[in-house]
Amino acid sequence: MWVDINMHLELMSTPPDQVLKDAHAANVTYIATGTHPEQWRWLEGRAPHVAFGLHPHYLTDESDWLVTLEDLLHRDEQRAVGEIGLDFRHGMPESDRQIRVFENQLSIAQSLDRAVIIHAVKSHHEVIASLKRVRCERFVIHAFTGSREIAQTYLSLGGYLSAGGLITREPQPRLVSVFQSIPKERILLETDAPDLPIAGQRCGSPAHLPQIGRALAEVLGASESALQQLSTQNAQRLFDYDFFQSN
Ligand SMILES: [Zn+2]
Repeated sequence: MWVDINMHLELMSTPPDQVLKDAHAANVTYIATGTHPEQWRWLEGRAPHVAFGLHPHYLTDESDWLVTLEDLLHRDEQRAVGEIGLDFRHGMPESDRQIRVFENQLSIAQSLDRAVIIHAVKSHHEVIASLKRVRCERFVIHAFTGSREIAQTYLSLGGYLSAGGLITREPQPRLVSVFQSIPKERILLETDAPDLPIAGQRCGSPAHLPQIGRALAEVLGASESALQQLSTQNAQRLFDYDFFQSN
C-alpha cells in the first residue's frame, strides 16, 4: 500500500466515502490535513488518518484555537500536526505573527511527540531557524521544491522531504536532481489533493499517488514496488503508526 502523507479532504469535490473507495482501489491510504479549526472538527471520523494544524493562510483572531488544537490532539495519539508553517508570499499575514503561531504549534507537537507536516513557501531559512529554536526533529516538508543545499539542511535536522504531483510534470530538472541527491530513507509521497494535480489531470486525488510514485521511482532508478515499500516504511517511521493495521 502507498501512503499519501498530505491531502485536503474538505477541498475535494468528491464526497469523503468515494475518495476513500477510490484510494483503496488504487492501493492508497492517506493523511487528511486540516488547516483551520472548522476543518479539524469536520475531519474527525471522515478520513483514515488525520493531522490538525493552523496553516499560515488561515491565521485566526479566535483566541482559543490553540486550546482546541491541543485538545483534539490529546484525544488521539495517532493525530499528527499539520499543515503548519510559514508562507512569505505577497499578501500573506505579517511574518512575525506567522512565526509565533508556527513555533507555538511546533512546541505542542514537541511536547506531545507528534510528527509535523510543514508548509514552507519563500521561507526555508526562517522555517529552519524555527525548527532549531524549538528543537523539532520529527517533521516533513510537504511538496518540497527547494535547492539541494536547503534539502541537506532539513535532512541534517532529522526531517523528511515529500514529493508531490510536480514530479510527474516535465521538465523538472532541479526537483529531480534534489530527490536524486537525498537518501531514499527520507523520502515521502503526497498528492496535496485537490491541489498540485499530476500531469494530464485537472484535479488531484489520493488515487493518483501511485503515478507520483512511479514517476519518482523512474528518476531514482528504483523499481516501483521498492519505492512503494520504502516510502511506506518511511511514513510509518515518521508518524509512528502502522498504516496497514489502522487503515
Ligand atoms: Zn502547503
